[in-house]
Amino acid sequence: MKNKNQLIEEVLNCIQQATDRVDRSSNDVTLVAVSKTHPIEDIVVAYQAGIRHFGENRADELAKKAIQLSHLKDLQWHFIGHLQTRQSKIVAEYAHCFHAVDRVKIAEHLSKQLQKLDHILPVFIEVNVSGEKSKGGFSCDDWENDQQQRDSFLKAVTTIAALPNLNIHGLMAMAPFKASKELIRNIFKSLHQLSEWLNRELPELKAKELSMGMSGDFEIAVEEGATHVRVGSAIFGKRGSAISPKP
Ligand SMILES: *Cc1c(COP(=O)(O)O)cnc(C)c1O
Repeated sequence: MKNKNQLIEEVLNCIQQATDRVDRSSNDVTLVAVSKTHPIEDIVVAYQAGIRHFGENRADELAKKAIQLSHLKDLQWHFIGHLQTRQSKIVAEYAHCFHAVDRVKIAEHLSKQLQKLDHILPVFIEVNVSGEKSKGGFSCDDWENDQQQRDSFLKAVTTIAALPNLNIHGLMAMAPFKASKELIRNIFKSLHQLSEWLNRELPELKAKELSMGMSGDFEIAVEEGATHVRVGSAIFGKRGSAISPKP
């Protein structure tokens, strides 16, 4: 069995090689180690190996871990999952970045909580570019052809951008779980192009970051322009199914 340090090193090497292949700098890619369901001890080991960004997708679990590790001042929590409005206070309080703004309402709730705390939160707008029904996010599966889809997305982003204390950094998407490498690449390309289009439409937005890529596809994502990859099992091992969270 490989230990965690070796797994982290391998993932970092793969990111380096992927950036080399497309003439990007690995400094432009943030590795978010997705620690959901894994114990505090595993996070500490990864922290000692140099990882500073950790991803969680359940608010109660985020709060518990953030409190227990509050002595690690430079540790950054990324909330990467669907968020229920009643839990927006926890994310506003403990998260350093939120990757899954999937509706205007959650952005409004977060903004209110953030104003009370006087926190600013960088966020990613989650988009569904694959058209899979099980995926969250704003529908953008046919944005290149569908004017109505583009218009309603633009309207939503404009509304969110006007909310205080939220800072839109970019777009986030998930590739389908079972798909060919080609299809996955096309989905990441589509997200990248959507981002370029969005930033042309709203030049003052400056939301050019891309959160895409997980354990199975982060190298493709880096080749296609990811600035944040969310890697769980490749670093921490398989998650136990008994505690695997379902939203
Ligand atoms: C769990 C999760 C990941 C990490 O998945 P792995 O396949 O374990 O790397 C990434 N993004 C989101 C949104 C997740 O929920």
